[in-house]
Amino acid sequence: MSEWQYERPQRLAVLGATGSIGDSTLEILRLYPDRYRLVALSGHSRIDKLLLLCQEFRPEFVCVSKDKLAEFRQRLKELGLSPTVLSGDDGLDAIASLPQVDTVVAAIVGAAGLSSTLTAARLGKRILLANKESLVMAGHLVMAAARRSGSVILPIDSEHNAIFQCLPKSVQMDNRCIHDECHGIQTLWLTASGGGFLHKSIDEMKKASISDAIRHPNWSMGQKISIDSATMMNKGLELIEACHLFNLPEDRIQIVIHPNSVVHSLVQYVDGSFLAQLGSPDMRTPIAHALAYPNRIDTGVQPLDLYALSHLNFIKPDLEKFVALKLARFAARRGTGACITLNAANEVAVAAFLDERICLTDIATIVKMCLDDDALAMCYDDDFTTLEEIISMDKRVRQRACSIIDRVSMNDEDIQ
Ligand code: NDP
Ligand code: MG
Repeated sequence: MSEWQYERPQRLAVLGATGSIGDSTLEILRLYPDRYRLVALSGHSRIDKLLLLCQEFRPEFVCVSKDKLAEFRQRLKELGLSPTVLSGDDGLDAIASLPQVDTVVAAIVGAAGLSSTLTAARLGKRILLANKESLVMAGHLVMAAARRSGSVILPIDSEHNAIFQCLPKSVQMDNRCIHDECHGIQTLWLTASGGGFLHKSIDEMKKASISDAIRHPNWSMGQKISIDSATMMNKGLELIEACHLFNLPEDRIQIVIHPNSVVHSLVQYVDGSFLAQLGSPDMRTPIAHALAYPNRIDTGVQPLDLYALSHLNFIKPDLEKFVALKLARFAARRGTGACITLNAANEVAVAAFLDERICLTDIATIVKMCLDDDALAMCYDDDFTTLEEIISMDKRVRQRACSIIDRVSMNDEDIQ
């Protein structure tokens, strides 16, 4: 893994620039115009916001959804802006391939972020990875591609970034050497806030409205990850993400609820030491860490007030309430096909919840029904050596999840 040297500005593409991670990334870039140059960015549906970003940052390349392409081009013209405009998955891949881009910030939500992340890994880009779904679906391909090309993957998911910071430098440079006994790494501990339903009953979870579910006690995030936090599927996806990033089996990774969201994760060593990274719950910190790595830059983030911290709580997760955690562990053990199933079924179920077609607790039930589906399970032992095989499995799962949801909402029946 090579380290970034600041001989010239780092040239960035921010994929998912109109989202929450996009916002936090651009806030850091605004502070360092001489150090980081935004060459390319992408949005999907929010073209008003994308146009404002084009006016501000004057990127050379912009990508937008195919549906919005014509309108977006017209409005750029009216503003007198003339970046190269691309669209859809091909456009995202083209941006991730640009020779004039050193660093790709992978901040698209969901499976839509996979292809461009894999492209960036194949082409040796430095990747600031927020899009956990790409590792859940295809971690083996992304990590192997990065290894072959020399691509540096720096996690900006706060827990993984915290773990990365607590690992020895040599493990940071090569995740495979985590198994060297001399490092003494025993267990990785992922912290979880527990979301908005930590102290609520399953019945209250069942009756949760969209706004109840989206409201997160400590973090402000996009819709999908907010729902994933409410069900704790987010931590399940992060477990699988961690297995790939740190080359460990799921039983070397533990999850602990830490409602304060101050300790962002920990590494337990064999001598009894636990190393942790602490900070205010603000995504600008892990993003700035990854942007500047191996250096450090000021972020303007409100530092922790240690004197005001009266206590730190750690709680064992309730697996009967947060079924998603059990399902994710099962998928992590079972392999790629099950992980694709977990992710795709969850994406479809979250969208159905946001569409008011199912209730919050149905999400995990639908994921479980897909994981248990005999026809899908027949593929769990496949190797999934290409992106096409992964996308084809993802599509099959989506069809299965949609048919379950259609049946339930048409008959107004209870799931199960
Ligand atoms: P948001 O929903 O806020 O933003 C998602 C971004 O992806 C937007 O730019 C959106 O464009 C774009 N997008 C959505 N669908 C597509 C598509 N089909 N094709 C191309 N682009 C698309 O999400 P977040 O920023 O919260 O999360 C992004 C990723 O980062 C997720 O994987 C999440 O799990 C991860 N993450 C987020 C954290 C957070 O604090 N928010 C923390 C840790 C990880 P548009 O809005 O224009 O439609
Ligand atoms: Mg996280």
